[in-house]
Amino acid sequence: MTLRQALDRTMLLMRDELDASTPDDALLAALTETEVAIVADSSNLASHSAQTAFVTLALLMARSGHRVHLIAPDIPLAGAQPPVPAGPVITGLLAVGSDMLPGITFSSAMPASPVDLIVTLGDSGTSLHGGAMISINADDWSGMLAPPAKATRWRAGRWPLGAMAAAAMAATEAFKIAMRKLVGHARNPAMMMETFAPSTDTTFALAPADTPMVSALDEFDCVSGGAITQSALFALTRLPDVSGHARVIEPDFADLTNLNRYMLLLRSHDGAQKAKDLEEMCAGTGLAIMPIPERFGPETAHSVGLSGVVLVGVDDIPSRWLVQRTWPAWLGVGATTHWSAMASFHVPGTDGCAECLHPDDDPTDAPIPTVAFVSFWAGLLTAAYFLRHRADALGTALLDQQIYVTPVRPESPIWAMVPKRPGCATCA
Ligand SMILES: [Zn+2]
Repeated sequence: MTLRQALDRTMLLMRDELDASTPDDALLAALTETEVAIVADSSNLASHSAQTAFVTLALLMARSGHRVHLIAPDIPLAGAQPPVPAGPVITGLLAVGSDMLPGITFSSAMPASPVDLIVTLGDSGTSLHGGAMISINADDWSGMLAPPAKATRWRAGRWPLGAMAAAAMAATEAFKIAMRKLVGHARNPAMMMETFAPSTDTTFALAPADTPMVSALDEFDCVSGGAITQSALFALTRLPDVSGHARVIEPDFADLTNLNRYMLLLRSHDGAQKAKDLEEMCAGTGLAIMPIPERFGPETAHSVGLSGVVLVGVDDIPSRWLVQRTWPAWLGVGATTHWSAMASFHVPGTDGCAECLHPDDDPTDAPIPTVAFVSFWAGLLTAAYFLRHRADALGTALLDQQIYVTPVRPESPIWAMVPKRPGCATCA
């Protein structure tokens, strides 16, 4: 097992932008030589939301191979942060960091020379020098990137959704730096520099600010235990006082090429049954996972018997149709394609179904290009829709029934209806 294998899918995605002759070593160097310091002081790191931002940001960056310095006091975690063990935050992250990508570990030491990027939580101060510096902050449902001059004390309290949006945006800034290092290999240098240009002052709202915060998740099913489900469960297990029971329907076993994006997978769990591993990783949170180690397909759809609320994170498009044809009372779908993440929800009798939105099968056996922050956005957006549903706050207008975001440009998400598609076999 090498770092090259663990980052295989990430490098496949990077190659969308690069000349075919670019050697793997150049891609690996760009990722692993991108050095970041995450800085927080005890007042900005005190809340569960701030700790969620810190942990999520560190894990996302490490899963893309960056060298991350954790410059913060080793204070006790205020809430569950799987896969980080309970206890002090830095100690826990150092332990988890040595069990993700081979050769990539966190450091709690001050960097010896200027880093590529410094991310500060709130208005935490630092004497460090870096090529770029951004501050992150959050409200309950919104995450923010801000230039240092506009930094303010960390705002959110226990609710961690906005904090995870902030972390996802900041992790993407680090990845953009790695991409810009490869401009000499770009197929289209001008376009690459524009696409991967820094975002410095951006707010991303996962839901309207007045959306009630509900942590009672009741029962729901997850079809697939892959990257998007992992990200959704990563988000949901962090809700304060969360309660719920989720079945995870997934037949496969964890593979080391999953490490670049599976938020709850550790290297020492290679070969584990994915659904059972999620049961283990979520244990100790209020969200209990029941593994169903089966493939959801035409032959098992009846015996599995989906519940009324289903989250789908499968790449296989006919599987999405099959779930939709059981007509769950509420269906959330998260998906990715290359640099973009999307999510939608579907309720019987209203507007377009999952097949209306994803009408074309795209069968492939080839490895799929993916990267940590894109998969994370798909799961986070799906979780946010689910939480709005549980809060009875989705309304009936459905003007925001789907979202499509290319996370390297978080300024421009597209929220839209899902129109009914004439001739849709599922709706018929
Ligand atoms: Zn339809």
